[in-house]
This record gives sequence, C-alpha cells and structure tokens, in this order.
Amino acid sequence: MLQCQQIHRSFGGLKALSAVDLSVEAGEIVGLIGPNGSGKTTLTNVVTGFYPPQEGRVLLSGQDVTGWRPHRVARLGVARTFQNLALFRGLSALENILLGRHVHTRAGVLSAALYWWWGRTEETRQRRVVEEVIDFLQLEAVRDEPVELLPLGLQKRVELARALAAEPRLLILDEPMAGMNQEEKEYMARFILDTREERGAAILLIEHHMDVVMGVCDRVAVLDHGVKIADGPPPRVGGAPAVIAAYLGE
Ligand code: ADP
Repeated sequence: MLQCQQIHRSFGGLKALSAVDLSVEAGEIVGLIGPNGSGKTTLTNVVTGFYPPQEGRVLLSGQDVTGWRPHRVARLGVARTFQNLALFRGLSALENILLGRHVHTRAGVLSAALYWWWGRTEETRQRRVVEEVIDFLQLEAVRDEPVELLPLGLQKRVELARALAAEPRLLILDEPMAGMNQEEKEYMARFILDTREERGAAILLIEHHMDVVMGVCDRVAVLDHGVKIADGPPPRVGGAPAVIAAYLGE
C-alpha cells in the first residue's frame, strides 16, 4: 500500500528525516512512534504531499507519487487526520464530514457541500457514504450540532469520520487520542480496529499512548532524531534497548 524509500528531508540545517524506509501493507495497522521532534509528522507530510522529500521515493500501491501535490495523493485514496483538530468551526458535524467527500467530486470543497443541498448527480452516492460513516462512528445524535460545541472525544471522532468519508485505502492518523480520557481512548481504539476490519483500510497511526500502540498495531516503527531505529512487532520493539534509550533520553 505504502512504501517510503530512503526519505531525506531537512529544514535549513536541521535533518528532520534521514534515509527513512517505511512500509504499510494492505490491511495492516502500523504504529509510528518516537519522542517529540523525531520526525513523525514530517514523514506523514512527505507521504501526503505537503512536503516533497529532498531525496528518496514515496510509492502508493506501487505508483511513484514522489513530489505529487496533496490533492492528487488524496485522490489515490490517502486520507489523514491532524494532530491539532482541523475541523471547520461554525459548521455542523454532518457538514464537516461531508467535506471529506470533496476528493471524489470534480469541483472543490464548497461545491461538494452545495451538492448535498442542491441534489446534483452525485447526491445519492454522497449521501449513502456519509450516512454509513455517521452510523459506523455512532455520530447520529450529534450530526446537526456545531462541532465546536462537542466534547473533544467527539470532535476527534468527527475528524475521523471526515477522513473515512473519503473512502481511503490508506488512513493516516496523527495522534487521534491526544487529550482524550480513558473511555474516549477505548472507543477510538475500537473504531481504529473496526476501520481495518470493516472498511479494509490500511492505517498508519502516530500515537503517544503506548498502551494503545501496543494493543492496536500489527507493527511499530520508531523514529529518533529523524532516523528509524526500530521496526517490528510491538512486544519486540517495546523492549528494544535503542527504543528505551530514545525515550529515556528525551
Ligand atoms: P514529531 O512529529 O515527531 O514531533 P516533527 O516531524 O514535527 O516531529 O519535527 C521534526 C523536526 O523537524 C523538529 O525538529 C521540527 O522542529 C522540525 N520541523 C518540522 N516541520 C518544520 C518546518 N516546517 N520548518 C522548520 N522545521 C520543521
């Protein structure tokens, strides 16, 4: 599904990523962990086309997408959520989720929203996909609420819903549990597992909560100062001396 090969990315003199290889197979949930500033978000920005790498290649389902613009990468079936919520305040949960469909319309984001009300050609399909996602993430009761009035756990769920509305083949989640209480974390972990089971998406999960990473991921890759220092099954990676040292040295 995803192959990053020897990715280099610097900002000025700072090497944010050095020769990083990372793969995610179809149907796999891969955790990407590492101390703050280790390059996790930069790598997702490289994969999604926000930053071109200075060296290396990004392949999606075998297709070389290195240097592609974000909207083209999105059209290939890559959706993401952001570390800091990127919801549109003033719009309802439903309207925010609907915006996730815009990658599948020829027109832009605003027109995608208008399609909903104006009943254009795509309406039936748009509506079915969005309703399915609302049902899947149990957002029925809050669909018409302005997002900024929802508790954080539900806002995060709306953001996941918006990503799923794009029907991604690869879903990149950047700290989906940040700021959540235990119950909200458990809900989110369940939804992540169900997303793989029921919707068949491969998932790249950046997360600081180790209990979640170890419980949900098939494989975990660890970055430290822009270098991948471990990649393997959770128990092995969790006990690797280099990983322990990277975290204790933070
Ligand atoms: P993480 O997600 O693991 O916390 P980041 O990928 O955000 O790490 O950051 C890796 C390094 O790259 C950090 O030192 C950060 O300050 C730097 N960095 C990230 N984005 C930029 C940018 N746009 N401009 C300059 N430096 C950046």
